[in-house]
Amino acid sequence: MYSAGDVRIENVRDPKIVEPTDAVIRVTRACVCGSDLWPYQKMEHSDTGRVMGHEAIGVVEDVGADVRRIKRGDFVIMPFAFSDGTCVFCHDGLQTSCIHGGFFGTTEVAGAQAEAVRIPLADGTLFPLHAHADDALMPSLLTLSDVMGTGHHAAIIARVTPGKSVAVVGDGAVGLCGVIAAKRLGAEQIIILGRHSDRITLAKDFGATDVVSERGDAAVERVRELTHGCGVHSVLECVGLEQAMNTAISIARPGGAVGRVGVPQEQTIPGSEPAFYNNVMVGGGVAPVRAYIRDLLSDVLEGNIEPGRVFDRTVGLDGVPDGYRAMNDREAIKVMVTP
Ligand SMILES: [Zn+2]
Repeated sequence: MYSAGDVRIENVRDPKIVEPTDAVIRVTRACVCGSDLWPYQKMEHSDTGRVMGHEAIGVVEDVGADVRRIKRGDFVIMPFAFSDGTCVFCHDGLQTSCIHGGFFGTTEVAGAQAEAVRIPLADGTLFPLHAHADDALMPSLLTLSDVMGTGHHAAIIARVTPGKSVAVVGDGAVGLCGVIAAKRLGAEQIIILGRHSDRITLAKDFGATDVVSERGDAAVERVRELTHGCGVHSVLECVGLEQAMNTAISIARPGGAVGRVGVPQEQTIPGSEPAFYNNVMVGGGVAPVRAYIRDLLSDVLEGNIEPGRVFDRTVGLDGVPDGYRAMNDREAIKVMVTP
């Protein structure tokens, strides 16, 4: 990506081992993220461009001399952040704050919308899948690199437990995975706030019990009606815009919790006053999806959850620029890339 709206497919040098802790994977599937749409809308021109993409599954082609756990030929899930797996924050299950870590698809580290990608700290970062996985499971496995883990993080932070009432703000791929996560954690009522009919249909399939298509004050009123005037125990904020955050805090019941995973587009957290007076806990942030892969994987392999259904379009590498456009125009929910 060179600037807003300017995505090109180019031949670049093959990634290779730089540090002895690196691996190189051949990407079998990658995708375009909702968060890639922020630079797609706003990025300033860059002469060197940015190799995009932070979600992938693939096969290990090469490993550095110090890589112990990951082997050539392993089929692996690549979480969107790399981490050593050994530092104090990794031990806390917060690999996105790894002292030696970082993120794929940035100006420093090349991304995965490519044929191959260099993986720093391969032993800590990659999750090898030793069980045989059917081709039909690949889209769902791919979601474990970001959106399913991110939706799950929102649900964990929002303290979703059996019997709770939950609202999900946002009907993008993360919001839809948030519905799956809430259902999986035993929520009794799951209200999706969204207005795109294809996404709402999928949300209902995933376990949403109610739909609120209004926005702003009307949405708040509607959620109150659906919750005996109380608001919900748990809110999953999966957008990142000021209005979404204000809505999220306003629909939480007193003593409730908001798990925010939408990448914030403002410097301050909105809704300070209602959050304060209603004792609404506001937490969350960039999701440590590496910590959740093991837990979510078994449900994917057993077919209990099918987050891969969020992909409604598949393109080759040449189709990536149009994939961005389609997601930005809300023509596609999430675009899978098969390099
Ligand atoms: Zn670490």
